[in-house]
Amino acid sequence: MTKPTASSSGFAGLAQRLTIILCAASLLLVAWQGAVLAGPPAGCDPAPGPQKLDAARPINLGLLKRKLVYYRCTRYDEEIAKALRKARDWVDRRAGHVKKPALVLDIDETSLSNWKEIYQNDFGYIVTGACDFSKGSACGAMAWERSAAAEAIKPTLALFNAAKAEHVTVFFITGRSEGPDERNATEKNLESVGYDGWQRLYMRTREFDGPSVAPFKTWARRDIAAQGYVIIANVGDQWSDLEGGYAERRFKLPNPFYYVQ
Ligand SMILES: [Mg+2]
Repeated sequence: MTKPTASSSGFAGLAQRLTIILCAASLLLVAWQGAVLAGPPAGCDPAPGPQKLDAARPINLGLLKRKLVYYRCTRYDEEIAKALRKARDWVDRRAGHVKKPALVLDIDETSLSNWKEIYQNDFGYIVTGACDFSKGSACGAMAWERSAAAEAIKPTLALFNAAKAEHVTVFFITGRSEGPDERNATEKNLESVGYDGWQRLYMRTREFDGPSVAPFKTWARRDIAAQGYVIIANVGDQWSDLEGGYAERRFKLPNPFYYVQ
């Protein structure tokens, strides 16, 4: 056997270190480019200053909106991540102890972010019409959904992937209306941002029309349970995502931007 000489092994070591440094630099560059290309959320460049609301006077809607934008630009991502860390800890702990474990995720403001549309519409919910992001225009909610352009809420995507790795079956339950266009766009959006390998997407059907989405969501979880799954975690941004049982633990994400009964 030929032993390496001191000089050849030294060169090999140097080459190996250089390769590691170059790989690390490339990864940092990719991460930096990703952050730069994604850019800050709409309305956060520059971020507005903090707003104080005078509790002694009636709420001023304009000031309240500024306060919400300030929150979105500062604490929102951190608080979302904190809630999802708890969900992930629970899924990690529980997955191996259940025969058919399942994770239920809501979509809007849980798995996908509609912040771009919300900000464009100045917190108004505009159902119909085109989705136009030019200054002073509005983005119709249906057109926005069909554009399949919402970004992933990253800590939810991380939870999704961690659950899959632990053989937890993932279901989406959304209040978005069932229909071929809506379904195609929602599935396309989920898959384009990395939600790949889920079991089923439940969308609200006409029979569940009514003031609250909670009966539909409860029915969908009951349907999952009837297939022998144990829903170990149910994650949503509205209480109507979480009411009605059929889940071991519920995880509420912050959403002060709108309310769904
Ligand atoms: Mg939601």
